[in-house]
Amino acid sequence: MPTALDPHLKRALADRIRYYNELGIYDFYRRETAVQIQPEEREPLPRAKAVAVVPSEDLLVISTRPESAFADPAQGLRAIREDIGDCTRCRLATQGRKQIVFGVGNPRAKLMFIGEAPGADEDQKGEPFVGRAGQLLNNMIKAMGLQREDIYIANIIKCRPPGNRTPERDECETCSPFLMRQIATIKPKVLMALGAVAAKTLLAINAPMSELRGKWYDFRGTKLAVTYHPAFLLRDPRQKKEAWKDLQMVMKDLGLVAPPKSPE
Ligand code: URA
Repeated sequence: MPTALDPHLKRALADRIRYYNELGIYDFYRRETAVQIQPEEREPLPRAKAVAVVPSEDLLVISTRPESAFADPAQGLRAIREDIGDCTRCRLATQGRKQIVFGVGNPRAKLMFIGEAPGADEDQKGEPFVGRAGQLLNNMIKAMGLQREDIYIANIIKCRPPGNRTPERDECETCSPFLMRQIATIKPKVLMALGAVAAKTLLAINAPMSELRGKWYDFRGTKLAVTYHPAFLLRDPRQKKEAWKDLQMVMKDLGLVAPPKSPE
């Protein structure tokens, strides 16, 4: 028999959920024990922006992420962007970044590239991979038989680190939950990590690039491949043929055929 929640308990629960949301925690897992909530009896949790209840075999997953209210991934991405706001969650907010570089591309992309962090050009324009490394990434995308508009591009962190230094671990930890939400909203078939920072952050593996690339990983149910960062390929163009092997592995999986022209 379903049991109605005590109003005090319900209010306390809503307060606790709001508190967790403010910390950036949105998904809650409760094992089904005595209380069975029937769909028609679910009341929206007070003041939570959106609630999606997904029953699984023995777990009740309650997501209060704003994007869970939308079926359209474009709207979901807008909700995530809104949630980020004019972010001051880490020190990068006060270290010279001009703007947040959220991500760009097709909200229903089958392929999503993930880089490290915006550089000066990206910070200026508010779009990832628009500088020299971005030009090379565009060529890589074309060589796969795709357009930039077909895919989605984001970075592990959304603000430019001063002097383009490598992002600190705590900056990645603070920012990457938003990337996780972008991935969960876009639901790409394949993720491609560009470079060591992206690969190591996503996979939580500390290994050299030579060991990380050339194979498939499971990232929370999505296939993930690793390749060299385009900025590295600009510095060492001899590695382009290795990167091309990685791209071909992804192309095969996505059923893509290279256009007649080979990468530059
Ligand atoms: N390098 C990255 O990792 N990301 C960008 O957006 C640009 C350069």
